[in-house]
This record gives sequence, C-alpha cells and structure tokens, in this order.
Amino acid sequence: MNPIHKFTGNRLLQLVPKTRKARIVSAGAVFLSMCAFGAVGVAPIAPDASDLPVKQVAQDLELPNLADQIVALQQDEQQFIHEERVRPGDSLGSLFNRLGVNDADAQKFVRSDKLAKRLLSLKTGKRIQAETDENGLLLSLRATITDGKGGDARTITVTRQGEKFVAADMPAKLERRVEMRSREITSSLYSATDSNVDGGSLPDSVVNQIIEMFSTNIDFRGDLKRGDRFSVVYETFWLDGELVKTGRILAGEFINRGVRYQSVWYEDPVTKQGGYYTLDGKALKKAFLKSPLEFSRISSGFSMRVHPISGKWKAHKGVDYAAASGTPIRAVADGVIDFAGNSGGYGNQVVVKHWSSYSTAYAHMSRFAPGVRKGSKVSQGQVIGYVGSTGWSTGPHLHYEFRVAGQAQNPEKFKSLAQQPLNQAELARFRMAAAEMNHRFSLLAPSGGNTMMAR
Ligand SMILES: [Zn+2]
Repeated sequence: MNPIHKFTGNRLLQLVPKTRKARIVSAGAVFLSMCAFGAVGVAPIAPDASDLPVKQVAQDLELPNLADQIVALQQDEQQFIHEERVRPGDSLGSLFNRLGVNDADAQKFVRSDKLAKRLLSLKTGKRIQAETDENGLLLSLRATITDGKGGDARTITVTRQGEKFVAADMPAKLERRVEMRSREITSSLYSATDSNVDGGSLPDSVVNQIIEMFSTNIDFRGDLKRGDRFSVVYETFWLDGELVKTGRILAGEFINRGVRYQSVWYEDPVTKQGGYYTLDGKALKKAFLKSPLEFSRISSGFSMRVHPISGKWKAHKGVDYAAASGTPIRAVADGVIDFAGNSGGYGNQVVVKHWSSYSTAYAHMSRFAPGVRKGSKVSQGQVIGYVGSTGWSTGPHLHYEFRVAGQAQNPEKFKSLAQQPLNQAELARFRMAAAEMNHRFSLLAPSGGNTMMAR
C-alpha cells in the first residue's frame, strides 16, 4: 500500500502543470487512487487548489505497526503454507515435492493411517494444502474428500504433534447455492427433467422431491399432459466449483392441465419442524393421521417386548391398538392399496402405499371394507377394514406399522411428516419466507432463459 501511494505522489509532483484543465486531470488521478486503495480520509481535492496536497496524502496513511511486521516476518521464517492441485499421475511423493514437504515420516503416516490414507484417493484437480517448517517437515496437511454421489464431503487434516502425527476429519464447509429451473412436459416427467436445455438435467433427488411435493394433487402416472410445466427452486452444495450434493427443493410450482399448484418448503425456526406448504400457509401434503382408529389406546408400542405367543423377546415393529372387534380402521393418509388379503401371522392385512417411500400396514382385521383390493385408491380417513383377531393374535386389536422403503419404523420418529396447520405466529414467519419464494417464481415466468442462479 505504502509504495503505491508514494509512487502516485511522485508522479503527481512531476506532472503538476500550470493549466487548469490539466490540474483537473491530476486531481482526478489523486481521487481515483484514494478510492482504489481504500481512501484514508482525505477530502477530495478542489480542482483549483493552487498546490496539490501530495504531502497530505502521505501523512494520512497509517504506518504499519512495526511490531506486527516483525511477528509476521518471524512467522514467515518458521512456517510455509503451500497449496497445490492434484495432477494426473501424481504420487504422494510428487505431491509432497511440489508442496515443499520433505518428510519421510509424514509420508509413512499418510500411507498407513486409516483416516489419512483417504488423502491418497484425492482426484485430479483437487486442492491440498500443506504447512511445513523451514526444513520441509510437515506441520499440517489438509484436503477435502468427496465420496461419489450424495456422499458427504469431509475435510481431512493431518497435524504434527511432537514426533507423531494425528489425523482428524470433519464435515467440509460447502458453499450453498440456490438454483432455479423450469421445464415443460413434452412426453413424461423424466424426459423433461433429463433434457439438457437450460442448464442440464435435474438431479434424481430433485425429481423425486417434485413427485413427493405434488403427488397428493397430481397422479404422475396418469395425469400429466403435454404442455404441463413446472419450476423448482432448490439448494445445491459446492466445493471448489464442483457440485457435491443436491439439497432440498425450497419451492416448486407445477401447472397440471391448467391448474397451478405451488409449494414452499418451510421450516419453523422455533419448532424446527419442516414441511411443504402452499403459498397461503396451508399444509400442501396432508398429514398422516395420528392414529388409524378414531378412539383408541396404544396397548403395545414400538419397542422390545416378550412376544405374547412365542414368549420370546423380540422387537415389536409396530404399534398395537386395543379396540373392540368391528371397530372401523382408517387409512392414515392418501394412497393406493398395495396388498389386501391373508398374510400368515398378520392375519387379514391391508398395506397402503403412500407418496415417496412411505407405506402403512394394518393387521389382524376381522374383515375388509367393501372395495378394498390391490390397486384401489384410498383417501385419508377412509375406512379400509375392521378390528379383529385373525393371524397370531391373542385378542381383538389392531397391529399398525409405519414403513419407510418397506421397513417398519417407529411412527413417533416421523412426527414431522404430520403437518399441522400453522398457528398465527408461525403464519407470520411463513408469509415472509413465502413472499421471497413468490418473487422467485415471478422471475421464472416463461420467457427465454429459464435457468437462473441466485444466492
Ligand atoms: Zn402388534
């Protein structure tokens, strides 16, 4: 900073001319130089000043603190930080060479330590940083590893501790971007999302989320029509200019057969519960009912227990509701009947497939409700059968399972899927979030360039 200002000053001294026009040019140069170097509080110079305040510029500069400079110099002598990018055909040896690391022990450690060894899998173009002392001994080494698709990026650090090294890893700091894409359906959702126009195909996870967001309104197998269109705003996470993973859809709009569906992801900052909502704050996706029975009590929860018939300890992968025989059983959410029949220990059982990978099972029924058969649609709250004691059961009860990808899970863990309407305070917060998304949709209105990036 200092030398540049001096230089500018000297130039000005040499150039100070007698004509008014030339003076204005010179004064402009001083002003520009001050702007460029973060002006030090000098008032702009009047063009008609008789002598240009060159001295004043110099006086106003802060002198670097001598003590700081000495400390910085000392550090320079002790530590060297290098950054390199991995080149094709690099070995750890060649990489260390370029990084200025001359440390056989460090190489040995990186080759043998379980965690540090992962640095050997760094791909071409990836950055690696090394800090050494003046003799090239390694003080620390760090790089970020990504494990293929969807894998979490982790920053691995090797640090010298006396004569030894320690390796550690932690989640990498990723750069978050928000991307917006818009597509028109010409044949299918997949062909639209695969198409390479407007910034390339959409990630599979985004396509799955589109289906999850709108499947209570749109049947993606039958309802899509040529000319339907959608826009999505979603998060992506980057490292070194490379896409590491795709996050959540923050907002989406789907125009199906002329009807517009809009949805915004909203996570309440207080309750930390998130879900998709329409722009007016109504839960877009209907909640799972809390219970398949209108009036019921849980007689056995999702836990370990002694099996009532075999007498052995085993995990109870469902929730038992005690109820009188014949009590109506309701589907907890919209879906399609995936199974309705006799299923060994489950007795008369109905399995309902919902959106995404969720399904629910209802066992030991005395009988099925009329029209309940594989492939038929059911809506939330619809009666699908009646409590009984068929299969391995000691008395009338409903055995209910909440399944994710076919595996029974504790429904309590999926409470966040049960979206309650927002209350007044939540609604106020939501409206602020929704307004921003609405603005983004307006930016996506059909017109030429459909891909936009925003932060
Ligand atoms: Zn049970």
